[in-house]
Amino acid sequence: MKKHNYSAGPCILPQEVFQEASQAILNFNDSGLSILEISHRSADFVSVMEEARELALELLGLQNKGYKALFLQGGASMQFLMVAYNLLEKKAAYLNTGTWSTKAIKEAKLFGELDEVASSKDKNFNYIPKGYKIPSDADYFHCTSNNTIFGTQIKDFPETDIPLVCDMSSDIFSREMDFSKFDLIYAGAQKNMGPAGTTLVVVKEDILGKVSRQIPSMMDYKVHIGKDSMFNTPAVYAVYVSMLTLRWIKAKGGIKAMEERNAAKAKLLYDEIDRNSMFEGYAAVEDRSPMNATFNLKSDTHKETFDKMWKEANINGLNGHRSVGGYRASMYNALPLESVQVLVDTMKEFEKKSGK
Ligand SMILES: *Cc1c(COP(=O)(O)O)cnc(C)c1O
Repeated sequence: MKKHNYSAGPCILPQEVFQEASQAILNFNDSGLSILEISHRSADFVSVMEEARELALELLGLQNKGYKALFLQGGASMQFLMVAYNLLEKKAAYLNTGTWSTKAIKEAKLFGELDEVASSKDKNFNYIPKGYKIPSDADYFHCTSNNTIFGTQIKDFPETDIPLVCDMSSDIFSREMDFSKFDLIYAGAQKNMGPAGTTLVVVKEDILGKVSRQIPSMMDYKVHIGKDSMFNTPAVYAVYVSMLTLRWIKAKGGIKAMEERNAAKAKLLYDEIDRNSMFEGYAAVEDRSPMNATFNLKSDTHKETFDKMWKEANINGLNGHRSVGGYRASMYNALPLESVQVLVDTMKEFEKKSGK
């Protein structure tokens, strides 16, 4: 029986995508070949790569606006350094909202001066800093839209004249926004778009080519753009499954429909966290992420009981990250509302059984 999968990443993907992707392993496009054994230069795969890049731009509303989409390897972690390699000449500004921002900052420091404009480290990253100033003489401003580990999300992005770079790994394609505000967006596929192994980069071409350093080919966005994301062998299967997921998002009504689904799931769970006398939320209420809900037991007395109950309810992946503890329910695009209902029912049942 399929589990209710709350895993933070790699994570649940649509059941229809699993079906089609498994078929392609045996016989891709009725070619008599597995997708795993064909050349990445074959017409069949080239069209997968083109469709994936096109769908990414289309869903984000960025077609014909000077952007290129790339599917690269090395994860979002590689982007921490690739961004700085390509954009940091003298100084960069970073907002520190968690583990991933902290890692991005560490890499960028290797390339130049770093201005950390604000940080929520003082409260173990349970909120998003606001009202900070972005220096106008920085080469770019970097932020993390959704903090997967701490369960916070930036709702309003700052206005700035310098290029805006955003790590959207865990909420890309989950909510509507004016994506043309951003000059570079990157996202590891395995949170909301596909399997592990590829990373989407959407970059406005005119911000590139401005640093004086030499950039190794594999690190150079311009090289990857020049080769249509096929400078070397791409992660063929990961790109294919991502493409299927992007098709699924489009068929369901695009990002707008995803946002509505996600809002309904988030409301159901957060309302229960707030109502239930056994639990308390971790993230500041106004910054709560619809993607990753973090919460704790008010007392650990009945922890064993609750853990046993959700496992018996066929729920997977509910344990919080070790730096926060407690619980984390990741509710990415593909998680059905019914799975959230099962969790909420389990929480209610637990309160009845163990509450006073
Ligand atoms: C998971 C995650 C990363 C790291 O992704 P990798 O693909 O494992 O390198 C970076 N940023 C955010 C926001 C994440 O959730």
